[in-house]
Amino acid sequence: MSRYWSPVVGTLSPYVPGEQPKLQDLVKLNTNEHPFGPSPKVLQALRAACDDSLKLYPDPGSERLRQAIAAYCQVQPEQVFVGNGSDEVLAHAFQALLKHDGPLLFPDITYSFYPVYCGLYQIAGQAVALTEDFCIDVQDYLPAAGRAAGGIIFPNPNAPTGRALALGDVERIVAANPDIPVVIDEAYVDFGAESAVGLVSRYDNLLVVQTLSKSRSLAGLRVGFAIGSRVLIEALERVKNSFNSYPIDRLAEAGAVAAIEDTAYFERTRQAVIATRETLAGQLQELGFQVLPSAANFLFARHPGHDGAALAAALRERSIIVRHFRQARIDQFLRITVGTETQCARLVEALQAILAD
Ligand SMILES: *Cc1c(COP(=O)(O)O)cnc(C)c1O
Repeated sequence: MSRYWSPVVGTLSPYVPGEQPKLQDLVKLNTNEHPFGPSPKVLQALRAACDDSLKLYPDPGSERLRQAIAAYCQVQPEQVFVGNGSDEVLAHAFQALLKHDGPLLFPDITYSFYPVYCGLYQIAGQAVALTEDFCIDVQDYLPAAGRAAGGIIFPNPNAPTGRALALGDVERIVAANPDIPVVIDEAYVDFGAESAVGLVSRYDNLLVVQTLSKSRSLAGLRVGFAIGSRVLIEALERVKNSFNSYPIDRLAEAGAVAAIEDTAYFERTRQAVIATRETLAGQLQELGFQVLPSAANFLFARHPGHDGAALAAALRERSIIVRHFRQARIDQFLRITVGTETQCARLVEALQAILAD
């Protein structure tokens, strides 16, 4: 605290990202990055964009990128909003759409940035408990549950559980709450869940947020987007243009367009991650782990005979980093990013050794 700070700053509990250690030969399975690099066409586009034009500001409306995303999602460009990572898109959604008198509902176990944004924007958040087996219970989000909510947000698949909600269930929640915005954070949707993008033309209150960080292997480029009705997109634009006119720089736009357009590379690499995930899930189960069904590029698993924190520490001693959350209900779990086959093999070997000790 300092007397120079705006008072709200002292009250914030900032998000703590997974670490990015600079160690050699590390098996880094802690932040859900894609194990393969981005498409070669992305790298080519980035190199081509590295020229004298960088002296100019980028297009504040990111027209080319919004058109590419619109074509891919089969919506109009006016239904697309882009931002500097989906975290920024989500932040704008909290400020533009989710700050109302009623509480904002989200699961008790979910992306830990949601309560952080509630703190930043002074929004009353209300955590809704997942079921015993870590599923979202649709019933809890129907107005009949009597919560008089001002908004709803959840990831699908959820993080860090990896569990997906069927599209029909997502639609029930959206349809039952026509008077409040419902934001579906689809950061991991390409690894096995059904996207709600196809519903936006029918539901004015639905905003679907996606990112190029995970399934397009571009966490370093910082591009995310939202698809929604024109009224919702207009609210996001108003906030964005009151904050930063140029969130997508020239390189980011060039790379992101190439990534969206290279559907062949996208398909091949996401299928490879899904296949490796299924193999790894089987191997962990053979080692005695309970593994939640995952529709994401990570697994959420616990071992009945070994403490979660101790396992994470033992892996770290072997230069393998996974994510462990010191949080009620999930402190026995490890969240393990699906790496390359080689990385996963090293993980399984290390776990064999640790469990045999
Ligand atoms: C990774 C992640 C994001 C944000 O990703 P960006 O890199 O900011 O696009 C958003 N939501 C969830 C649930 C995530 O796991």
